[in-house]
Amino acid sequence: MKKVVLTGRKQSPVMPWRFWLVLTVEEPKPAARHPEQLCVVGVDVGWWRVPDKSKIRIAMTWDGKRHRELLLPLSFWKKELGEVSIAHITSLSSQRDLLLESCKQKLAELLPEHPRAKNKVAWQRTRSGGLVRFLHELDAATPAAELLRIWKRDNDQLLRQQLMLENAFNHRRKWFNRNFAAEFAREYHVVGIENLNLVQMSSREKTKGEEKRGLRRLAQRRKYAALGELFDAIENPMAKAGGRVVRVPPSSTTHTCSACGKPFDTGIDGRLGVCPDGHEADRDKNASINIFSQTCRAL
Ligand SMILES: [Zn+2]
Repeated sequence: MKKVVLTGRKQSPVMPWRFWLVLTVEEPKPAARHPEQLCVVGVDVGWWRVPDKSKIRIAMTWDGKRHRELLLPLSFWKKELGEVSIAHITSLSSQRDLLLESCKQKLAELLPEHPRAKNKVAWQRTRSGGLVRFLHELDAATPAAELLRIWKRDNDQLLRQQLMLENAFNHRRKWFNRNFAAEFAREYHVVGIENLNLVQMSSREKTKGEEKRGLRRLAQRRKYAALGELFDAIENPMAKAGGRVVRVPPSSTTHTCSACGKPFDTGIDGRLGVCPDGHEADRDKNASINIFSQTCRAL
């Protein structure tokens, strides 16, 4: 036992405090192995819809003998919270949007001459923070202030629920990633993953569509945060177990046939791909084989 720490955190002013007791223990490092005895695995990390809509595939692996996929459930049940799912979190977020818009509309009707409501462009962009500031400016006895107080109460309640669900979901995802990574560190000496620039990927996708911008951005952030988290989850236990993480260039892993090296066409829906020689494969399986081969060459 190296260290014992009691730590606490409050995620936002509307959330209760949470405490953790962190125990740090030291494990002995395993002896170095001969290169021929190295067990290598290639991991293709992504965020793909699978036919079973209740899960998302976040990694596909190949170790020279078999493929394995890491599936993240998008919905689960928690005793004190009920259904925890992306759909539920998104619906709470939409409910808050509706509440906000309806409150803004009523306010504009109540105070048509108020400078805040009169500036149409700024009023349209006003979000929760703006309404809270508005509430502080108004005389507390006015009907507009009462309207804002009711909005704030309902919004805070929904926000609290949303944050609790998000916390539970993130916690479950971290647990999944950590278990996956720990299994890897026990089984393999070298893990090959793509050297992806997640920040760049996320900004590239953001420009693709403008519809439902807020929700899309939220989903994107969660997606890229999750991938970065998986990368970190793999690095740490590998380093502790004396293993190695090899980063391979991502340029050709998806669009090269792992059987013959010719261009690999992943088609429109992108799940199944084929090369000019007729080698057909799941695109993630194909990519994981390419990552595995590149990793072996890099050793
Ligand atoms: Zn081929």
